[in-house]
Amino acid sequence: MVTDIKFDLHCHSTASDGSLPPADVVALAAQANVQLLSLTDHDTLAGQVEARAAAEKLGIEFLSGIELSVTWEKHELHMVALGFDPEHDAILSLVDAQLCARETRAKAMGKKLDKAAVMVGAYDKAAALSGQSAPGRPWFAKVLLEENKVRSMDHAFNRFLKQGQSAFVRTPWVSLQDAIDVITQAGGVCVIAHPTRYGLTRTKLRALLKDFQSWGGQGLEVATPGLHVNQRKLLEECLVDFDLYASGGSDFHTPAQSWLTLGSVPPLPTSARPIWQALI
Ligand code: AMP
Ligand code: MN
Ligand code: MN
Ligand code: MN
Repeated sequence: MVTDIKFDLHCHSTASDGSLPPADVVALAAQANVQLLSLTDHDTLAGQVEARAAAEKLGIEFLSGIELSVTWEKHELHMVALGFDPEHDAILSLVDAQLCARETRAKAMGKKLDKAAVMVGAYDKAAALSGQSAPGRPWFAKVLLEENKVRSMDHAFNRFLKQGQSAFVRTPWVSLQDAIDVITQAGGVCVIAHPTRYGLTRTKLRALLKDFQSWGGQGLEVATPGLHVNQRKLLEECLVDFDLYASGGSDFHTPAQSWLTLGSVPPLPTSARPIWQALI
């Protein structure tokens, strides 16, 4: 059932925490012979117009995209949404609220870092580096690295930024159910992003997918680089058990990570229904 199309339905640009402008991401996708692309920046649509225009020029099929931070029970999860109307009112107000939450969070994170890492103006520095008023955690990690407060990006997250650490800020993200509602109203489809990266047990993951599916969620990201065979097996099982469409993407952020290239996405399971079929 899966056609032989080269796709990448999860990647980032300078509109969020990527290092290339949207048009450059698309140009790189063209070089990699990607035929179907979505740019899925964190909680923003800022790169969409530029990316779509570049894709049209280069003959790449483009789906509107976003990676929403959402809450489910006590967990912060990522949901990729694809193929929605990017000018739909419900989406525009959701994105506004998410960006507002991000800005408040970034300012709070900056204050915490000023104390915990003995810095001056961490928020202003991350804002300047990113060119954004709501810089995400990777921008703070870069500032920490530049000021020699940490040895690596990983160290920045483990020492300061991840949940449980001194500069982590709990954020009132949209609930998973409300996010699905909005995307569905705007004609898009919802995909649970990188389901193995949340530290959920098999039982918890299945509970999540049961809720997700019952609320109108349709897709599961099963084709991502670096999955262990057992993880891939678990996800393929979930596709069948919860009757979900399969999606996939590189989660590309920067060419500096030479081991993770745009368009390098493992094939979807041969028996699975590809997510773009849910949009036809
Ligand atoms: P935020 O959107 O501000 O919550 O930041 C989350 C982003 O941080 C993810 O999308 C990744 O791009 C990045 N990230 C998460 N963990 C790490 C890590 N250990 N090292 C580098 N980047 C990370
Ligand atoms: Mn990211
Ligand atoms: Mn993510
Ligand atoms: Mn991502």
